Amino acid sequence: MQHETVKAKSLLSKPIVADAWFHVNRSMNAYRGCEHGCVYCDGMAEHYHVDNFTTHIRIKENAAKVLRRELKKDGYTSQTELETETLWRFMDPEDAKRMALRVPRKKVIGVCGGVSDGYQPAEKEHKITRQVLETLLDFRMPVFVLTKSDLVLRDLDLLKEINESAFANIMFTITLSDEKQRGIFEPKASSTPERFAALKEIRKAGLPGGVMATPIIPTIGDNLENMTALAKEAKRAKAEFIQFGGMTLKPGRQKGYFLRVIKRRFPDKLSEISNIYANNNKYGTPDWKRLPVNVMLRGYKVCRSVGIRDRSVRNKLKSEPDSNNAVLGVLLDIEFYMRYMLGMPWNKIRPFHELSARIERGIEDLVELRREGQLKSRLLITDRMVSIVEEIMDTGSCRYIQDLVQKTDSKVAGETVFVAFPDE
Ligand code: SF4
Repeated sequence: MQHETVKAKSLLSKPIVADAWFHVNRSMNAYRGCEHGCVYCDGMAEHYHVDNFTTHIRIKENAAKVLRRELKKDGYTSQTELETETLWRFMDPEDAKRMALRVPRKKVIGVCGGVSDGYQPAEKEHKITRQVLETLLDFRMPVFVLTKSDLVLRDLDLLKEINESAFANIMFTITLSDEKQRGIFEPKASSTPERFAALKEIRKAGLPGGVMATPIIPTIGDNLENMTALAKEAKRAKAEFIQFGGMTLKPGRQKGYFLRVIKRRFPDKLSEISNIYANNNKYGTPDWKRLPVNVMLRGYKVCRSVGIRDRSVRNKLKSEPDSNNAVLGVLLDIEFYMRYMLGMPWNKIRPFHELSARIERGIEDLVELRREGQLKSRLLITDRMVSIVEEIMDTGSCRYIQDLVQKTDSKVAGETVFVAFPDE
C-alpha cells in the first residue's frame, strides 16, 4: 500500500441542486483512491484518472485549508471570524441582522462518499476528514457522510456539535449480509455487523442516519434473503430508512477487474453477469432486460414487508421555513418514485425537479407567499401544481404521491400501470 501526501488545488465539487438520493449540494474527497478496495468500485474507472485506485492513496494534507478558502469565496463567514471581527462586535444589532440576511443559504456538504471513503484506513493516522469536519463546524455548515467504516464513531463528538448547529446526516453503505461475500467484495471496509453497530450508536446519539444498500450486485446480492436481512438489521439499528439501488460497471478497468474476481470466486455467475453488462454502456448501466430482478422494486417491497422507510430523508436547514422543507421533501420523493420506481420520462419529471431546485436555491416562506396569493407567480408553476404544493402544506402529503405509491404497489404485484401527469 502506497501513501502519498499531496496538495489539493481545489476541493468542492460543482453545486448540485435537488439531489433526490443524498440531498447534498457540494461534495468533496479528502483522499484520492480508496483502500477499502471494493471490487465494484466506480472510482477505478478511467473516467476519474486515478491509477492504482485501491493501492496508491493520495492524502490531501491541505484539504481543510482549501475548504476554508472556498467557503469564504462563496460568501460564508466562519464563527471564529464572526467572534473576532470588530465590525460585528460593535455594530448596531439591526444592521448586524440585515448583514446576516445577506449571507448565502447554507449548502449541504458531502464530506465523504464521493469517489473515496473519508474514513478509509489512512484517516486513522492523517485525520484529514476530522480537520474538514472542524472547519465545517466553524462555518456552521450542514454535513452529509456516507461511509463503509465504523471509524466515523471517532468523530461522534464533532458530528454531534455539527448536528446541533446545522445537521450531520450519517449514512452507511451496506450491501451484503453474508460476511463471506462481504469479505470478497468489500475486503478492507468494516464488517457488516460493525457498520450496523456504528449506525445504532449514531442513532442513539440523536443524529439522523440510514442505510444506502447500493450497489446490490445482480445475481449475488439481489435475492430476497439478503435484501430482507439488510432491511431487518437496518430497522433494528433504528435507521431512518434503507434505500436499495443497482450496480453500474463502466467498461475498462472497473468492469475488467470485477469480472476477473467473479471468474475466480463465482465462476457459475460469470456468464450471466457478463451478459447483463455486455452492452458496454459508457455510464456502466446494465441491460435492464437482462437483469434477473429490479432491485429498486424489490427493495420497495422488502421495506414494505419489514416496515421501514424505503427513501432517504431530507433534513431541514436551520434557516429554512418548515413548509419549504416539507414541500421539498415530498417533491423529491415524487421525483424518486417517477424516475426509479415507475421509469417515467424526464419531460414528466422535469417540472417537479425544477420546482424543487427553485425552492431549494432559496425562496421566501411558502406560507407567506400563499397568504399573499403569490405561489403561482413566484414559483412559476401551473394551477394544478399550486394545488399540489398547497395540499402538501396543509397535510404533509398529497394525492399525487399517494397515487405514485399505489402504482408502485401495482407494479410490484406485476400489474401494468398508467400514471397520469398532474396537468393531463
Ligand atoms: S468504499 Fe467506496 S470509494 Fe472506497 S473502494 Fe469502496 S466503493 Fe470505492
